[in-house]
Amino acid sequence: MIPYGRQDISIDDINAVVNVLKSDWLTQGPAVPLFEKKIVELTDADYAVAVNSATSALHVACMALGLGPGDYLWTSPNTFVASANCALYCGASVDFVDIDSKTYNLSVEHLQHKLEIAELEGRLPKIVVAVHYAGQPCYMDAIHKLGQRYGFRIIEDASHAIGARYQGEPIGNCKYSDVTVFSFHPVKIITTAEGGAAVTCNEELATKMRQFRSHGITSDPHHMQPMPDEEIWNYQQICLGYNYRMTDIQAALGISQLTRLDWFIQRRHSVARVYDETLASDPFILPWQSPESQSSYHLYPIRVRASECGKNQRQVYNFLRDSGVQANLHYIPVHTQPYFQKMGFRRGDFPEAEHFFREAISLPIFPTLSDSMQTQVISALCRALS
Ligand SMILES: *Cc1c(COP(=O)(O)O)cnc(C)c1O
Repeated sequence: MIPYGRQDISIDDINAVVNVLKSDWLTQGPAVPLFEKKIVELTDADYAVAVNSATSALHVACMALGLGPGDYLWTSPNTFVASANCALYCGASVDFVDIDSKTYNLSVEHLQHKLEIAELEGRLPKIVVAVHYAGQPCYMDAIHKLGQRYGFRIIEDASHAIGARYQGEPIGNCKYSDVTVFSFHPVKIITTAEGGAAVTCNEELATKMRQFRSHGITSDPHHMQPMPDEEIWNYQQICLGYNYRMTDIQAALGISQLTRLDWFIQRRHSVARVYDETLASDPFILPWQSPESQSSYHLYPIRVRASECGKNQRQVYNFLRDSGVQANLHYIPVHTQPYFQKMGFRRGDFPEAEHFFREAISLPIFPTLSDSMQTQVISALCRALS
């Protein structure tokens, strides 16, 4: 079976983890702050807060931005459910903005239109979560301008996009957002097994996210309340937080993986280029790339339109699976999930995302996908159409 994504673990990665296991600290030792420093250097953000998943990073980002009951968070329906659930964790409401038919990211036109209506109705969002689908950055410049005009804060869900670039600059520099989050789940670009990070250029947000990551506890005297002199208060809980901490074992793996990030991205680009060239004459719709950005190619989604391909998405998907190619589907539109249907969302609410879901297939793409494996994928695709 050829999977759609797969981690690449080197001997150095293994040694890095083993070294932590032999050291004095398994968690909260020197590896987590060093990993955070490396993320800051990579992204040009000012602060990084490593956590145990991107889901946790989204949650602490929303809390730090003050999201709560009565507030709205908007995101793309073409994403993993976590991009929306972070609003619900905070007791806020979620809504969606339909996608752009070329990038499959949240559409700036739809966003603008929805904001105009929301302003009249007094229901403007507090936060917009811009998801860089497949690793291709959203039009952050335009989203940021709308943020200034309508007063919402911006989180970039860059779970797919560490190592991607927008307007020549690294994703994560937060030039057009308040916080950017990354995922280090094994199918993503780099891995810490489970893990994530939130980066920001805002010191206050960084401080709050650190507190929410660890029970709402601080040991910084500047953030503590005065207490009786005869008592020793070496920490205080000053708000309600969680245990979202990353371990040193995970951080050591992350530090080691980061040294190969450039190679991971190059390999993903090579795989994408081979698909681009080999499938160009086939009737599939291949992923369009914006000239102002460089994707990290987390996914390579093709569209199978029955009218042009003679076969529908389900037929091609099943044929690939029967041929040992474990293609995947990204994404079931979040608003069509049963849990979201119970909240009142309906099929037809975001037609572009629904249309995309019925045609899209994510082909295998990962750094160690060999030429012969890729040939196998391409030949299975051709046979699927015949
Ligand atoms: C994977 C993913 C997440 C969640 O990441 P975890 O680290 O598994 O919590 C969130 N958003 C998107 C777009 C993702 O792909």
